[in-house]
Amino acid sequence: MDITHIEHLGIAVKSLEEAIPYYEKVLGLTCYNIEEVADQRVRTAFFKVGDTKIELLEPTSEESTIAKFIENRGEGVHHVAFATKNIEGALAEAEQKGVRLIDKTPRAGAEGLTIAFLHPKSTGGVLTEFCEGK
Ligand code: ZN
Repeated sequence: MDITHIEHLGIAVKSLEEAIPYYEKVLGLTCYNIEEVADQRVRTAFFKVGDTKIELLEPTSEESTIAKFIENRGEGVHHVAFATKNIEGALAEAEQKGVRLIDKTPRAGAEGLTIAFLHPKSTGGVLTEFCEGK
């Protein structure tokens, strides 16, 4: 499996406007993009940290999985996303090695990436995302 780096950490927040100042004013990072991903019912805010990004996720609906996550577990780290050069191959390899997939086929994510999630029951409790860039 051709994992190159951690593409981003996804962090669930109730409000981007309330969360962003910590990253900008304390950590000194810059929010360079805010984007709504309609089919996931989230608004996302991105910060670069070297080759890795921080992706803040704010629910736009009570039906959003992020809203449910915050309700059950509070705000905090939601998922870890690994960059791969071959997402189809990575998914096939994970499945072949017994990992339960949330997404059997990759789909469109924020920032023009192709993404797919692995089930946390198969990954030691960490919701895991694969990402392939353009
Ligand atoms: Zn993500």
